[in-house]
Amino acid sequence: MIKSASELKTPLTLRPDVLVIGSGAGGAVVAARLAASGAKVLVLEEGGHYTRADFNMREDWAYPRLYQERGNRATADLGFTILQGRSIGGSTTINWTTSFRTPDHVLDHWARAHHIEGLTKSALTPHWDTIEERLGIHHVGLDEVNRNNGVLYDGLGKLGLHRDTTSRNVRGCMKSGYCGMGCPVDAKQAMAITLIPDAIEKGADVWAGARVERLEVAGSRVVRAHAVAIDKDTDRPTGVAITVEPKLCVLSGGAINSPALLLRSGLNANGRVGLRTFIHPVIAMFAQFDEPIEAFYGAPQSVYSHEFARRDGKMGFFLEVPPIHPMLAALALTGYGQAHRDLMVQLPHAQAIIALSIDGFLPGDEGGRVTLKSNGAPKVDYPYTDALRESFRESMKVMARIQFAAGARAVQTLHTTPIRIDRESEIARIDDAPLGPCLNSAFTAHQMGGCSMGGDPKTSVVRSDFRHHDIQNLFVVDGSVLPTSLGVNPSETIYGLASYASTKIH
Ligand SMILES: Cc1cc2nc3c(=O)[nH]c(=O)nc-3n(C[C@H](O)[C@H](O)[C@H](O)COP(=O)(O)OP(=O)(O)OC[C@H]3O[C@@H](n4cnc5c(N)ncnc54)[C@H](O)[C@@H]3O)c2cc1C
Ligand code: SF4
Repeated sequence: MIKSASELKTPLTLRPDVLVIGSGAGGAVVAARLAASGAKVLVLEEGGHYTRADFNMREDWAYPRLYQERGNRATADLGFTILQGRSIGGSTTINWTTSFRTPDHVLDHWARAHHIEGLTKSALTPHWDTIEERLGIHHVGLDEVNRNNGVLYDGLGKLGLHRDTTSRNVRGCMKSGYCGMGCPVDAKQAMAITLIPDAIEKGADVWAGARVERLEVAGSRVVRAHAVAIDKDTDRPTGVAITVEPKLCVLSGGAINSPALLLRSGLNANGRVGLRTFIHPVIAMFAQFDEPIEAFYGAPQSVYSHEFARRDGKMGFFLEVPPIHPMLAALALTGYGQAHRDLMVQLPHAQAIIALSIDGFLPGDEGGRVTLKSNGAPKVDYPYTDALRESFRESMKVMARIQFAAGARAVQTLHTTPIRIDRESEIARIDDAPLGPCLNSAFTAHQMGGCSMGGDPKTSVVRSDFRHHDIQNLFVVDGSVLPTSLGVNPSETIYGLASYASTKIH
């Protein structure tokens, strides 16, 4: 059973073999594996515990409870909305189920450019095989493709561009379209119903509503973790302290939050914590169709293209589709008053494609940075570089061509003053529009890096075996260790890495 720290009335001290901070893709897998190997595992998760009985398919319920900063996380200049999870299961509770193994060339790049040893395809394959089996990850057929994704599939086909269907971690998916608000029928094999129960079955102690504020270090060891109980309703600390004295500590708070915890704990000797934060920056293109698209129903992501993932000397991007629900659409769609209202009225006929730029590979691309606000919360800065602007412009033009090829009546950018294009011959107008913070909507649902892995202790935070370079009993196992972005959706990479990491933690 998952315990709720909100209900604690008196301070608590716990002494596990292993403390795992965070219960998402990294934390759940590592907790399950270590508990199975006989360790006494404690998981502390700052978010609440919600189940299918809670998931009511309402955006106004879900964003405040299941997302970081109640759904309002953003970069400091508001250039990027940051969608990131916060509950038992972490971002897997609200992710869209698309599952990819890490591309070979990315693993090769890490070995070459970041001196990472051992993270090879052959070392990771058995871990992916097992996790795919446990999570029901399978390649979906065209029968699972809704019209929103079908537009991408058809448009890519008409233009002769690479296209395929995705793999998804689902069993018995009813194609409701509400993955982003928590699966109401437990079809999505998220951590809260898979690896977290596996960990508990093997004796792990799992607490919701317990936020680790600071790690206390003596010499080169974590001796204590200081946590506070969080009230489930108000989301504020209740004032009850939880102190943990673990033998080993595994930090799995995810990108942004893991580096923030290290910074709050004063563990940044080489100044690298928070650097190399990558976000797969997302730009979207909306299209209007005469036919109903109803992009709020159906498996959210079932089609993708890697046609533009590797562009010589330029930032690559990959193409997918987002679900379109009214609240997020109202935020994403720019324009005001009657014009905005007209778009919202037409929502059942709206279709969208997203381009996710692949950051962290070009020489000099250091991505963004996590620092701390005065209250200890993370502050994220992410720059609009020339390479990113070029990638956004090129991808918007590509997406528009795909949408017209699939029969769109008109397409529209997400600039603050939207550019509406009624015919393909006018797509070049996109080149003239400025891009930057508050000039256009941009997003991220994939946060990576900030506790970068690497062979050189001067330029990275953890070693190839996930152990902190300086702190002997501290490991970081989550998306924050990725030294670059991936060019594919990150969850399966993180599951695989976490399963592999658990063989190194002792
Ligand atoms: C809307 C959305 C859609 C997505 N769709 C996909 C998809 O289709 N496919 C895919 O592969 N990926 C997708 N992702 C991304 C994917 O889910 C994440 O990359 C992955 O879950 C990250 O794993 P993680 O372990 O690094 O962090 P998370 O899974 O985010 O887990 C971290 C957990 O740690 C907790 N935590 C943080 N700090 C503390 C602290 N100090 N004390 C206690 N607890 C703490 C957090 O509350 C959180 O629950 C999506 C993400 C979002 C937001
Ligand atoms: S689309 Fe499938 S996996 Fe997603 S919420 Fe609906 S039933 Fe669950």
